[in-house]
Amino acid sequence: MNATPDPGSPVDAGLMRRWLDLAATAVDRESEHLSELDSPIGDADHGGNMRRGFVAARTAVEQEPPDTPGGVLVLVGRTLISTVGGASGPLYGTLLRRAGKDLGDEPAVPAARLRDALRVGVDAVAQLGGAAPGDKTMLDALLPALDALTGALDAGGSAAEAFAAAAQAADDGAKATIPLRARKGRASYLGERSVGHQDPGATSAALLVTALADAARTGEDA
Ligand code: ADP
Ligand code: MG
Repeated sequence: MNATPDPGSPVDAGLMRRWLDLAATAVDRESEHLSELDSPIGDADHGGNMRRGFVAARTAVEQEPPDTPGGVLVLVGRTLISTVGGASGPLYGTLLRRAGKDLGDEPAVPAARLRDALRVGVDAVAQLGGAAPGDKTMLDALLPALDALTGALDAGGSAAEAFAAAAQAADDGAKATIPLRARKGRASYLGERSVGHQDPGATSAALLVTALADAARTGEDA
Protein backbone atom coordinates (compact mmCIF):
# COMPACT_ATOMS: atom_id res chain seq x y z
CA MET A 1 0.00 0.00 0.00
CA ASN A 2 2.99 2.28 0.51
CA ALA A 3 4.52 1.43 -2.85
CA THR A 4 5.18 4.50 -5.00
CA PRO A 5 2.68 4.46 -7.84
CA ASP A 6 4.08 4.21 -11.35
CA PRO A 7 3.79 7.79 -12.72
CA GLY A 8 2.51 6.30 -15.98
CA SER A 9 -0.25 4.53 -14.04
CA PRO A 10 -1.54 7.22 -11.71
CA VAL A 11 -4.95 5.71 -11.05
CA ASP A 12 -4.68 3.51 -7.99
CA ALA A 13 -6.85 2.69 -4.97
CA GLY A 14 -5.46 5.73 -3.13
CA LEU A 15 -6.65 8.09 -5.88
CA MET A 16 -10.10 6.49 -5.93
CA ARG A 17 -10.39 6.72 -2.14
CA ARG A 18 -9.38 10.40 -2.26
CA TRP A 19 -12.00 10.85 -5.00
CA LEU A 20 -14.69 9.26 -2.84
CA ASP A 21 -13.75 11.40 0.14
CA LEU A 22 -13.84 14.64 -1.91
CA ALA A 23 -17.03 13.56 -3.70
CA ALA A 24 -18.79 12.79 -0.41
CA THR A 25 -17.69 16.15 1.01
CA ALA A 26 -18.88 18.04 -2.11
CA VAL A 27 -22.21 16.20 -2.14
CA ASP A 28 -22.72 17.02 1.54
CA ARG A 29 -21.84 20.70 0.98
CA GLU A 30 -24.10 20.99 -2.11
CA SER A 31 -26.91 18.78 -0.85
CA GLU A 32 -29.37 21.62 -0.28
CA HIS A 33 -28.57 23.17 -3.66
CA LEU A 34 -29.13 19.83 -5.42
CA SER A 35 -32.52 19.43 -3.76
CA GLU A 36 -33.42 23.03 -4.64
CA LEU A 37 -32.67 22.25 -8.29
CA ASP A 38 -34.84 19.13 -7.94
CA SER A 39 -37.78 21.19 -6.57
CA PRO A 40 -39.22 22.86 -9.67
CA ILE A 41 -38.66 19.88 -11.98
CA GLY A 42 -38.68 16.94 -9.54
CA ASP A 43 -39.46 15.97 -5.97
CA ALA A 44 -36.74 17.88 -4.10
CA ASP A 45 -34.90 14.78 -2.92
CA HIS A 46 -31.78 14.68 -5.11
CA GLY A 47 -29.48 16.22 -2.50
CA GLY A 48 -30.77 13.90 0.21
CA ASN A 49 -30.49 10.87 -2.08
CA MET A 50 -26.91 11.69 -3.01
CA ARG A 51 -25.90 12.48 0.54
CA ARG A 52 -27.35 9.25 1.92
CA GLY A 53 -25.58 7.25 -0.78
CA PHE A 54 -22.18 8.87 -0.41
CA VAL A 55 -22.21 8.80 3.39
CA ALA A 56 -22.89 5.05 3.19
CA ALA A 57 -20.25 4.59 0.49
CA ARG A 58 -17.61 6.43 2.50
CA THR A 59 -18.41 4.29 5.54
CA ALA A 60 -18.27 1.07 3.51
CA VAL A 61 -14.88 1.97 2.02
CA GLU A 62 -13.48 3.05 5.41
CA GLN A 63 -14.61 -0.20 7.02
CA GLU A 64 -13.01 -2.41 4.40
CA PRO A 65 -10.75 -0.35 2.12
CA PRO A 66 -10.37 -2.13 -1.24
CA ASP A 67 -6.78 -2.20 -2.50
CA THR A 68 -7.53 -1.70 -6.18
CA PRO A 69 -9.22 1.23 -7.98
CA GLY A 70 -11.74 -1.21 -9.49
CA GLY A 71 -12.54 -2.53 -6.03
CA VAL A 72 -13.29 0.97 -4.71
CA LEU A 73 -15.59 1.72 -7.66
CA VAL A 74 -17.47 -1.58 -7.34
CA LEU A 75 -18.01 -1.08 -3.60
CA VAL A 76 -19.20 2.52 -4.03
CA GLY A 77 -21.50 1.51 -6.89
CA ARG A 78 -22.98 -1.39 -4.99
CA THR A 79 -23.55 0.80 -1.93
CA LEU A 80 -25.32 3.52 -3.98
CA ILE A 81 -27.62 0.91 -5.52
CA SER A 82 -28.55 -0.52 -2.12
CA THR A 83 -28.99 2.77 -0.23
CA VAL A 84 -30.49 5.29 -2.68
CA GLY A 85 -34.18 5.00 -3.48
CA GLY A 86 -34.33 7.60 -6.27
CA ALA A 87 -33.50 7.08 -9.92
CA SER A 88 -30.02 8.49 -9.40
CA GLY A 89 -28.92 5.66 -7.06
CA PRO A 90 -29.25 2.77 -9.52
CA LEU A 91 -27.95 4.98 -12.36
CA TYR A 92 -24.78 6.20 -10.60
CA GLY A 93 -24.44 2.80 -8.93
CA THR A 94 -24.51 1.06 -12.30
CA LEU A 95 -22.00 3.52 -13.74
CA LEU A 96 -19.45 2.95 -10.97
CA ARG A 97 -20.01 -0.79 -10.55
CA ARG A 98 -19.65 -1.44 -14.27
CA ALA A 99 -16.59 0.79 -14.54
CA GLY A 100 -15.03 -0.97 -11.53
CA LYS A 101 -15.73 -4.39 -12.97
CA ASP A 102 -14.18 -3.32 -16.25
CA LEU A 103 -10.97 -2.33 -14.41
CA GLY A 104 -10.84 -5.76 -12.79
CA ASP A 105 -8.16 -6.26 -10.14
CA GLU A 106 -5.38 -4.14 -11.64
CA PRO A 107 -3.58 -2.35 -8.75
CA ALA A 108 -2.83 0.78 -10.85
CA VAL A 109 -3.84 1.85 -14.35
CA PRO A 110 -3.14 4.79 -16.67
CA ALA A 111 -5.77 7.53 -16.91
CA ALA A 112 -6.73 6.32 -20.41
CA ARG A 113 -7.64 2.93 -18.95
CA LEU A 114 -9.89 4.58 -16.36
CA ARG A 115 -11.44 6.63 -19.18
CA ASP A 116 -12.25 3.43 -21.08
CA ALA A 117 -13.79 1.90 -17.96
CA LEU A 118 -15.87 5.02 -17.28
CA ARG A 119 -17.06 4.90 -20.91
CA VAL A 120 -18.33 1.35 -20.26
CA GLY A 121 -20.09 2.63 -17.12
CA VAL A 122 -21.67 5.62 -18.86
CA ASP A 123 -22.85 3.38 -21.72
CA ALA A 124 -24.52 1.17 -19.10
CA VAL A 125 -26.32 4.23 -17.68
CA ALA A 126 -27.59 5.12 -21.15
CA GLN A 127 -28.82 1.58 -21.62
CA LEU A 128 -30.45 1.32 -18.19
CA GLY A 129 -32.15 4.72 -18.31
CA GLY A 130 -32.75 4.89 -22.06
CA ALA A 131 -31.67 8.55 -22.20
CA ALA A 132 -29.92 10.16 -25.16
CA PRO A 133 -27.74 13.27 -25.22
CA GLY A 134 -29.88 16.40 -24.86
CA ASP A 135 -32.61 14.66 -22.82
CA LYS A 136 -31.67 16.83 -19.81
CA THR A 137 -30.14 14.14 -17.59
CA MET A 138 -26.84 13.33 -15.90
CA LEU A 139 -25.63 12.10 -19.30
CA ASP A 140 -25.50 15.72 -20.50
CA ALA A 141 -22.63 16.29 -18.05
CA LEU A 142 -21.07 12.82 -18.21
CA LEU A 143 -20.76 12.49 -22.00
CA PRO A 144 -19.01 15.86 -22.57
CA ALA A 145 -16.73 15.01 -19.62
CA LEU A 146 -15.68 11.76 -21.28
CA ASP A 147 -15.09 13.53 -24.60
CA ALA A 148 -12.96 16.22 -22.93
CA LEU A 149 -11.02 13.55 -21.03
CA THR A 150 -10.32 11.76 -24.30
CA GLY A 151 -9.33 14.97 -26.07
CA ALA A 152 -6.94 16.03 -23.32
CA LEU A 153 -5.29 12.61 -23.06
CA ASP A 154 -4.96 12.33 -26.86
CA ALA A 155 -3.30 15.77 -26.84
CA GLY A 156 -0.68 14.42 -24.43
CA GLY A 157 -2.02 16.04 -21.26
CA SER A 158 -1.26 14.62 -17.82
CA ALA A 159 -3.93 12.71 -15.90
CA ALA A 160 -4.50 15.75 -13.67
CA GLU A 161 -4.87 18.06 -16.69
CA ALA A 162 -7.21 15.63 -18.42
CA PHE A 163 -9.44 15.24 -15.35
CA ALA A 164 -9.51 19.04 -14.96
CA ALA A 165 -10.65 19.39 -18.59
CA ALA A 166 -13.33 16.75 -17.93
CA ALA A 167 -14.54 18.66 -14.86
CA GLN A 168 -14.85 21.89 -16.84
CA ALA A 169 -16.77 20.10 -19.60
CA ALA A 170 -19.11 18.47 -17.06
CA ASP A 171 -19.80 21.84 -15.48
CA ASP A 172 -20.48 23.43 -18.87
CA GLY A 173 -22.70 20.45 -19.76
CA ALA A 174 -24.71 20.83 -16.56
CA LYS A 175 -25.28 24.55 -17.24
CA ALA A 176 -26.24 23.75 -20.82
CA THR A 177 -29.18 21.65 -19.54
CA ILE A 178 -31.03 24.85 -18.50
CA PRO A 179 -32.72 25.52 -21.88
CA LEU A 180 -33.39 21.83 -22.55
CA ARG A 181 -36.74 20.11 -22.28
CA ALA A 182 -36.55 16.95 -20.14
CA ARG A 183 -37.34 13.73 -21.95
CA LYS A 184 -36.45 11.20 -19.22
CA GLY A 185 -37.08 10.83 -15.52
CA ARG A 186 -39.49 12.73 -13.31
CA ALA A 187 -38.74 16.10 -14.95
CA SER A 188 -40.11 14.79 -18.26
CA TYR A 189 -43.64 14.74 -16.74
CA LEU A 190 -43.48 18.55 -16.85
CA GLY A 191 -42.90 18.73 -20.59
CA GLU A 192 -42.27 22.34 -21.69
CA ARG A 193 -42.30 23.51 -18.06
CA SER A 194 -39.00 21.72 -17.48
CA VAL A 195 -37.32 24.33 -19.71
CA GLY A 196 -35.37 27.02 -17.84
CA HIS A 197 -34.10 24.85 -14.98
CA GLN A 198 -30.71 23.21 -14.53
CA ASP A 199 -30.92 19.42 -14.24
CA PRO A 200 -30.04 18.24 -10.71
CA GLY A 201 -28.45 14.98 -11.88
CA ALA A 202 -26.23 16.75 -14.42
CA THR A 203 -25.23 19.11 -11.60
CA SER A 204 -24.28 16.28 -9.23
CA ALA A 205 -22.41 14.55 -12.08
CA ALA A 206 -20.30 17.69 -12.48
CA LEU A 207 -19.56 17.61 -8.73
CA LEU A 208 -18.38 14.00 -8.99
CA VAL A 209 -16.11 14.71 -11.97
CA THR A 210 -14.72 17.81 -10.25
CA ALA A 211 -13.91 15.66 -7.21
CA LEU A 212 -11.88 13.38 -9.50
CA ALA A 213 -9.94 16.36 -10.84
CA ASP A 214 -9.31 17.59 -7.29
CA ALA A 215 -8.20 14.12 -6.17
CA ALA A 216 -5.73 13.89 -9.07
CA ARG A 217 -4.37 17.36 -8.30
CA THR A 218 -3.85 16.65 -4.60
CA GLY A 219 -2.12 13.42 -5.61
CA GLU A 220 0.33 15.40 -7.75
CA ASP A 221 1.03 17.86 -4.94
CA ALA A 222 1.70 15.07 -2.44
P1 ADP B 1 -35.79 10.76 -8.63
O1 ADP B 1 -35.96 11.38 -9.98
O2 ADP B 1 -36.23 9.33 -8.59
O3 ADP B 1 -36.39 11.60 -7.53
P2 ADP B 1 -33.18 11.86 -8.07
O4 ADP B 1 -33.91 13.12 -7.76
O5 ADP B 1 -32.20 11.41 -7.06
O6 ADP B 1 -34.19 10.69 -8.38
O7 ADP B 1 -32.39 12.03 -9.44
C1 ADP B 1 -32.89 12.79 -10.50
C2 ADP B 1 -31.86 12.88 -11.60
O8 ADP B 1 -31.62 11.58 -12.14
C3 ADP B 1 -32.28 13.72 -12.78
O9 ADP B 1 -31.95 15.07 -12.56
C4 ADP B 1 -31.52 13.13 -13.95
O10 ADP B 1 -30.26 13.75 -14.13
C5 ADP B 1 -31.28 11.70 -13.50
N1 ADP B 1 -32.13 10.79 -14.28
C6 ADP B 1 -33.43 10.50 -14.08
N2 ADP B 1 -33.86 9.62 -14.99
C7 ADP B 1 -32.79 9.35 -15.80
C8 ADP B 1 -32.58 8.49 -16.93
N3 ADP B 1 -33.56 7.73 -17.42
N4 ADP B 1 -31.34 8.46 -17.49
C9 ADP B 1 -30.34 9.23 -16.99
N5 ADP B 1 -30.48 10.04 -15.91
C10 ADP B 1 -31.68 10.10 -15.33
MG1 MG C 1 -35.81 13.58 -7.17
